[in-house]
Amino acid sequence: MSALTGPADVTLVKGACPHDCPDTCALEVHVRNGVAFKVTGAAAHAPTAGVLCTKVARYTERTYHANRLLHPLRRVGGKGEGLFERISWDEAIHTIAERLKPIAADDPQQILVRGNGTATLRLLAKMLDLTPTQVWGTDQGSASGMARAVATVNDATAATQTIGILGTDLYDEFRGALKPLAFEAKGQKCAYVPDSKLATFDKINVRDGHYPIWGPIHFYAAVTGTGSPSPQANALINLLTVPKLDKNLLDAVVLAGYIPACAMRVSRQEEMGPMSSRPPDYRCGCYYEKVANKKPTPSCVACSEGLPCIDPTHPSCNYGWCEAQ
Ligand code: SF4
Repeated sequence: MSALTGPADVTLVKGACPHDCPDTCALEVHVRNGVAFKVTGAAAHAPTAGVLCTKVARYTERTYHANRLLHPLRRVGGKGEGLFERISWDEAIHTIAERLKPIAADDPQQILVRGNGTATLRLLAKMLDLTPTQVWGTDQGSASGMARAVATVNDATAATQTIGILGTDLYDEFRGALKPLAFEAKGQKCAYVPDSKLATFDKINVRDGHYPIWGPIHFYAAVTGTGSPSPQANALINLLTVPKLDKNLLDAVVLAGYIPACAMRVSRQEEMGPMSSRPPDYRCGCYYEKVANKKPTPSCVACSEGLPCIDPTHPSCNYGWCEAQ
């Protein structure tokens, strides 16, 4: 970090966000008498343009909050009594491991997985730095079989001990019966669920790179002796690879539970490779959120031929919503 000149008694300290998201926003920390009281995005830094995500914009509130958890605590009273004792990190990790071991060893029915040849399991293993065969559990045969198996666990004890692994399209379909667990990939400092809230379908943490278990859908086409696909296959490839998808096709993609490339804020050059914050050339985040959430996002601005976008940072009218490009 380096200090900047600030107004009166305030020092602006320049820095970069330490989180593991690929945006790496440029920060200005406002400090008075040695205490940080506000964190803002650096307006002069073009990719950040003065904006931070909600969690980092409220950093100082969290850092100095009286109830901030600073060390592990063990509950010593009944649930809800609020009685805890302080324990060491080693003791906390040991206690959790000791409780999980017998569950995994005694009742494999309670850890449900997809087969180790499926994309879901292979992507998960990659993010945990494991081989697919090291992810242990009972294969549920299909994604819908997995969703049904977890959703129908009805014994109170088994329900709290049963974990299943499935794609978000199936999770969305069975939401009423399933609870998501936040996922922390190797190297991350926090765990995330795909959506911004349990009740929304915006997949914001997938789209901005915080939830890393995602990959592209693959299509394969037979080719002729000259290496070209058939005209029919070529027509489909052309429909799917243009920056601006046909609106009906875009709707079908979103309603099937997938995220179109135009709604992503990060990209990958290789399967499960490192992410970069390069946004798509043609963006559709607002339209995606409207269709996926079934209502517009309040911060999105509608536009049309007769109602152009006037915000210079969001000048492009894409699918009826003002976007950055
Ligand atoms: S979006 Fe948030 S978490 Fe990501 S770099 Fe910016 S401030 Fe940090």
